[in-house]
Amino acid sequence: MKVILVTGASRGIGYATVKECLSLSTDSVVYGVARSAEGLQRLEEEHPGRFVGIVGDVCDPQLPSSLLQRISADHNQLDAIVANAGVLEPVHQLTDTAAYDPQQWKAHFDTNFFSIVTLVTTLLPLLQQSRGSVVLVSSGASVKAYNGWACYCAAKAALNSFARSIATDIPECRAIAVAPGVVNTQMQVEIRDVAGPRGMDPAALKRFTDLQLNNELLDPAVPGKVYATLATQGVPGDLNGQYLRYNDSQLNQLIADSL
Ligand code: NAP
Repeated sequence: MKVILVTGASRGIGYATVKECLSLSTDSVVYGVARSAEGLQRLEEEHPGRFVGIVGDVCDPQLPSSLLQRISADHNQLDAIVANAGVLEPVHQLTDTAAYDPQQWKAHFDTNFFSIVTLVTTLLPLLQQSRGSVVLVSSGASVKAYNGWACYCAAKAALNSFARSIATDIPECRAIAVAPGVVNTQMQVEIRDVAGPRGMDPAALKRFTDLQLNNELLDPAVPGKVYATLATQGVPGDLNGQYLRYNDSQLNQLIADSL
C-alpha cells in the first residue's frame, strides 16, 4: 500500500496526477489539498475511501502540522509528496518599474517555494520512516527566462535547487524536480487571456497562443502519469536530486518498465 499527498489537486495537473496514482497503484490512498472544494469532492465521490480531500491554503502555517496529524493517525506512513500547487502571477516586464510590488513577489514565493519547504520539513519524520519521495512540479522556466515571468522563473529555479538539497541532506528520502511541458490547464488560460496580454511581450506570448491554436497543448494526464509513476514507485536512486523534463528518456523508460 502507498500513501501519497498531492497539493493543488482540485484541477489541472494535480487532479490528473491523483487519478493516475489511483489507477497505477490500486491499493494506494491519496490525500489532496486545494483551496476550492469542488474538484476534491468529485475525486472523493469517484474514489470513495481511496481519496481524501483537504480544503486548505498551502500558505496556511497550520496546514502542514494538521496534515501530519491526520496522515499519522490514519496510516502512520507517507510514501510521496507531489508538490504541485502553484501560481503564475505576478507577470510584468522588469522595465515596468511601476508594476513591481515586492509584496506580490513575496506572496508568490510563499506559494510556489516556501510552502513546499515547510510542508516537506513538517512531514519529514513520516517521509523518513517510509523512505519516501518528494516530487516537485517544476517548469522549463526554472532553467530558461520567459519574458515577463522573472518571479515565476526564480521560484521554480529555487525548487530545482531544493530537490538537489533534499538528495544531499536527507539520506532516507529521494527527490526530483520535473517540468510538465506546456499543459492544457487554467494556468494556460491565464497566460493567454490575462497575465500575458498585460505583462508579456506580444512576440513571447505568441508561442502560447500558437500552441493552443495548433492544438499542441499537452493533456494533463501526460505529465500526470509521470508524476504518479514517480510517486507510486518512488524516485529511482540514479534520478535523486535531478531536474528533468516530463519526456526525458529516463522517465519514459521508468514508465515503460512499470507497465
Ligand atoms: P492550475 O490549473 O491553475 O492548477 C493549480 C492548482 O494549484 C489548483 O488545484 C489550485 O487549486 C492549486 N493552488 C494554487 N494556489 C494554491 C494555494 N495557495 N493553496 C492550495 N492550492 C493552491 O495550473 P496547472 O497548470 O495545473 O499547474 C500545476 C503546476 O504545474 C504549477 O506548479 C505550475 O507552475 C506547473 N506548471 C504548469 C505548466 C502548464 O503549462 N500548465 C507548465 C509548467 C509548470 P485552488 O485554486 O483550488 O486552490
